[in-house]
Amino acid sequence: MGDAIGLPHEGLHPRRIARRLERAPLRHRMVLGRGMLSDDTEHAWMVGRALAESKGELDAFTRAFARQLRRWVLALPPGVGLATLRGTLRLVVGVPPERSGVHSAGNGPAMRSALLGVYARDDAHLAQLVRASTRMTHTDPRAEDGALLVARLARQLAAGALDRAIVDSIRDPEFRERARGAWTGGDASLEDYRQRAGYERGVSGFVVHTVPAALYCVMAGADARASLELAVRLGGDTDTTAAIVGALVGARDGVGGLPQDWLEGIWDWPLTTDSLDALARALASDQPPPRHRWLAAIPRNLACIAVIVGHVTLRLLGR
Ligand SMILES: [Mg+2]
Repeated sequence: MGDAIGLPHEGLHPRRIARRLERAPLRHRMVLGRGMLSDDTEHAWMVGRALAESKGELDAFTRAFARQLRRWVLALPPGVGLATLRGTLRLVVGVPPERSGVHSAGNGPAMRSALLGVYARDDAHLAQLVRASTRMTHTDPRAEDGALLVARLARQLAAGALDRAIVDSIRDPEFRERARGAWTGGDASLEDYRQRAGYERGVSGFVVHTVPAALYCVMAGADARASLELAVRLGGDTDTTAAIVGALVGARDGVGGLPQDWLEGIWDWPLTTDSLDALARALASDQPPPRHRWLAAIPRNLACIAVIVGHVTLRLLGR
């Protein structure tokens, strides 16, 4: 839901988003007032399927997730980060998943790791799963630390007990300081936080910026809807920031705590909210994942490219 609500604002300057939200409250607006899903949801979905197939056993999870990624990239996804594309194509040509990652601190691993956090048996299992998922596409330690932080936050929020020690274990000093600032910055107004963090032009797709920004939105928002609106208002990589925020507030509040109108406004295929729901139920009851039409993603992705071209054209015309 965060992905769908953030996607139409991706790459926009925060001032422009503020003007849009003056005209109408935050709502779906990708196509005909509905929201569509992008790589952020697809990656969380693939991680979920790999968990359901492997029951969390590390080697089986690694093989299953690599298989998911190969199929995903061959269906020509319209939204894909450069490092994810390179790592995934390396998987396609036969590089083993332990060596397919490229040196990058992009957001791919962080946008798919919340589910690993709530699924893992314990913190050691969580760290193993996050490492396997991360290294398949990204080898920069900051990518792994960002994914670890999202997974641990999701786990703690689901358990209702936050412990700041998870921020102190971030290895990169700038990343650690930004995460600390976001953790304690929940009382700061959006403007104050934006200026202090240097996000005047929006949040970049660099994990050191995106994950702390998502953490601020969770800490500062009174509920899921408010946190997601903060993520959109921060601007920049809004679909990924809002997707991470959505995963975290979802772990905390459950489906019932999410804005139901925004859930119902998602309009996509073959990946639907029903198929996501069926996968969640399979994971919760230790069943294999539901069947999925992989090849149907190809015409969908081609149609999605047309929607994006239309959307960007309307943007250029000032909408
Ligand atoms: Mg995306």
